[in-house]
This record gives sequence, structure tokens and C-alpha cells, in this order.
Amino acid sequence: MRNIISRREFLRASAGFSGACLGSSLIFSGELAFAGTKKDDIFRREARYYEKLPNRRIKCKLCPRECVIDDQETGYCGARENHDGKYYTLVYGRAVSANVDPIEKKPLFHFLPGTTAFSIATAGCNVLCKFCQNWEISQARPDQIRSYKLFPKDVARYAKNAGTESIAYTYNEPVIFTEYVEDCAEAGHEQGVRSVMITNGYIQAEPMRDLCRVLDAVKIDLKAFTEDFYRKIVAGKLKPVLDTLTLLKSENEWTEIVYLVIPTLNDQAADLKKMCHWIYNELGPDVPLHFSRFYPIYRLKNLPPTPLATLEKARNIALDAGLHYAYIGNVPGNEGENTYCPNCKKIIIRRIGYQILENNLDSKGRCKFCKTSIPGVWH
Ligand code: SF4
Repeated sequence: MRNIISRREFLRASAGFSGACLGSSLIFSGELAFAGTKKDDIFRREARYYEKLPNRRIKCKLCPRECVIDDQETGYCGARENHDGKYYTLVYGRAVSANVDPIEKKPLFHFLPGTTAFSIATAGCNVLCKFCQNWEISQARPDQIRSYKLFPKDVARYAKNAGTESIAYTYNEPVIFTEYVEDCAEAGHEQGVRSVMITNGYIQAEPMRDLCRVLDAVKIDLKAFTEDFYRKIVAGKLKPVLDTLTLLKSENEWTEIVYLVIPTLNDQAADLKKMCHWIYNELGPDVPLHFSRFYPIYRLKNLPPTPLATLEKARNIALDAGLHYAYIGNVPGNEGENTYCPNCKKIIIRRIGYQILENNLDSKGRCKFCKTSIPGVWH
């Protein structure tokens, strides 16, 4: 039987989530899925990326962890389970959050500015960031959190009916629900709705290539430029993320990078310079790079917010390295929120927070003052 549930009920059911993942005015219809009931089976689908091993063990080939998993056990992310030597995702169609957000919130600044994205998440993550904004969902197991049945066709329909231009896979780590992403993106395209993935880039090449077939843009959280930071603060590795960035470039996927600047942990000028030169040399000058302000949260409540001077210094390092589009995020009203033409230096898109105040792109995606082409997805 189908129930109609209001957004209020949906949010109450999702109580405890960070404010970062809430904020729409939708009416959801869907069937409540209660943890620990037989209904959990409806969210199982055979995983697309794994290898069978002797004695009903399997090796997951989705992310660089390559978890080797015994029968009846789950992987590190908690979202995949070995059942009789077959591997399953547990979160297919199992949404724990769904909202309409401005695309600028992702942030994607060179992708359909001023539009909205139907944004969905599941439980689970393949890393453990000490500064996670959405740890209540990213560090939860699917059966620890109330979820909603939202299969790909429903997602596409909601996205279309809400007037959004895209579906965003976000809040927790979409890598761990990649089968759901692929099918939602295909269903979305059938409705004329595009798809964007907000990800840590901690994924193997084959699934990422498959995702590129169905995604219209990717935002990568590059969390630092040292293996040391990745090991101690993220419980992951840097190198696979850099490999993902170069793969996205080779696939011509529209990509933007966000770097959360955390005082004392990843704000050293020498590392920022190295990173900006790496981006320039490997990806080119046109990849937007967003330096985002950190606020104390989760396991890093002991650190202060990022000083504005640090963010401005980081942005100047990027511009000096030759990057054309360096931004400052989480500081509404800062001039680093605007897009400037790299040729005539005039403001192309003026922003305050998630709002567009002025858009000086012409119909061909060029600066209307000097006709320089501005890279991005504008239509
Ligand atoms: S996706 Fe999950 S199960 Fe697979 S390797 Fe990564 S952490 Fe392990």
C-alpha cells in the first residue's frame, strides 16, 4: 500500500541530520521503510563491481579499499553485503534524504547557474572524515536510519515535477550507491533531467568511467594535497582521487573541485601551491577551484573557522598559478564568489551565497563584454 507523507513527516523521520542536507518544500509519496524488517530486501540489488573468490568470499571492486568480504559480512562502507558468495548493494532506492537545493549549494558554479537540483542521499560512506557535515547519515548503516522507498523512476518524476534541471547525488558519498546513481541518471535523462555527482572521487576507474556515460557534471572534494592528511583525517588515500580527476578530464566530464581549508591541517601555502600547479598542469586552467570555509564540526570542534585572510591567500595562490576560476565559498558577499572573465576581468556572474544577482554570459556562453568563451555547461 502506498502512503502519502508530507515533507514535515519526512524531515521528522530524518531528525538529527545536519542542516546542510535539508531545505525544500516537496510533498513526498512513498512507502516508509522501517529498519530491520523484511522490507529491507526490496533495496537489495546485485552489486555491479566485484570479483568472486574461493569459499564464497568476494572482493569489492568499487572503491580503492577493495574490501575482501566473507559470507554474510558487509564492507567498510556498510552499504554492501556478501550473501552466499554474491555481493549486494543494500541501498538501491533507499533514500534517507531528498531536497530541492540551488545548484550553487553543491557548489557547481559553471553548471546551469540559478537552477535547482533534486538532491538525494542514502546511508554510508567509504571514508571517515573528521570534519564530515553529514556524519549522521554517512556513518550510519542502512538499517540504523529510517529511509524511504525512492526508486529511480520516482526520483526522476519528483525531479521533473519539482521543476529541477538536475538530480544531485550528494550529502553522503554517492560512490557507495553507484548502481542507484546510474539508474536514476538514466531515468532522469528520459525525463529531460540531468545528473550531477558530489563526490570524494574515491572510486576505481571502471565504475567512474561507467558513471561518466550518464553524468552531466561532477564535483570532487579534494580534501588535501598530502597523503598524510588523507591517512590521518580522512582514512583514505590521495592518489586515487588524483587519478579520478585525470580520468574525468580524459572523459571530458564537466568537473569542479572544492577544497575545504581547515586551519593548521591543510592550509599550508606550500601544499596549496603544489596542488594548484598540479591542477594547472594535469587538468588545465579552466577547472573551477572553490576554497571553502571550514566551521568547527563533528570530530574537529577544537579548531576555529578558517580566517578570511587564509581563504583569500589560497585564492591568490590559485590565480598566480594560472587557474582562471578560483572561488571562495561559505563567505556570502565575498568578491571571491563571483565569476570573472579571465580576459577583460569584468564580472560575468555576480553571486551572494546561492543567489545569482547578475549574469553576463551571452547565449553562446561567452563574456558579453569581450566575447571570450567561458567554459561550463550553460544550457
Ligand atoms: S565500496 Fe564499500 S565495500 Fe566496496 S571497497 Fe569501498 S568501502 Fe569496501
